[in-house]
Amino acid sequence: CGSCYHRFAMVKAFIQAGEIQDVCARIAREISDDYRGESVVLIAVLKGSYQFISDLSRLIEIPCEIDFVQVSSYGDGTESTGVVRIKKDHDINIEGRNVIIVEDIVDTGLTLKHLCELLSTRRPKSLAVASMLSKPEARKHEALINYIGFEIQNQFVVGYGLDHAEKFRNLPYIAVLGE
Ligand code: 5GP
Repeated sequence: CGSCYHRFAMVKAFIQAGEIQDVCARIAREISDDYRGESVVLIAVLKGSYQFISDLSRLIEIPCEIDFVQVSSYGDGTESTGVVRIKKDHDINIEGRNVIIVEDIVDTGLTLKHLCELLSTRRPKSLAVASMLSKPEARKHEALINYIGFEIQNQFVVGYGLDHAEKFRNLPYIAVLGE
C-alpha cells in the first residue's frame, strides 16, 4: 500500500510495483508505435536503470539491441558532484541507428545532457530518452525526455534500481528514505 512501511523498516513505498509495470507497458507501447518497422538500440545507464531496461525491453515489440554505459555518479552521498565521467562506454556501433537512452531518473539533467552530447557525436539516425523518473524542479541543465514514467518532487528516492550507498536497488517499488 502507499502509506505503510515495507520489508525494509526505513523505506516508505510511494510508487508501487504494479504502477511501475503499467508505466513500463505504456512506454514500451509508445516506443513500439513510434519506431514501427524499424529497430532501436536501447542504451541503459548503469547501475540504476537495470530494472527499468529489463522490464521495458521485454515489453517492446520491435527488434531491439541492448547496451550499457556507466557514468560517474553521486558516490555514497545524495548530492551531485557536478562532474560526469564515462566509466564504461557502449559496445554497439550506433552510427545510423535509432538510439534510446534508458535512464532511471533525471535530476539536475547534467548526466543526460552530457550523454546526449557525447552520443550525438557518434552520428545516430535518431536519439531519444526514456526515464522512469523525472524531478522537474531540480533541473539545472536542459534535458529533453521523450518518454517519462513519473514526475516526482525534489526528494531523494530509492528502489527499482536506485540506491543509497548501494543499498535498496533490489526493491521492486520506489520509496523515500524514512526518518
Ligand atoms: P543528474 O545528472 O540528472 O543530476 O542525476 C542523474 C543521476 O543521479 C541518476 O542517474 C541517479 O544515479 C542519481 N540520482 C538523482 N536523483 C536521485 C535520487 O533521488 N535517488 C537516487 N538513488 N539517485 C539519484
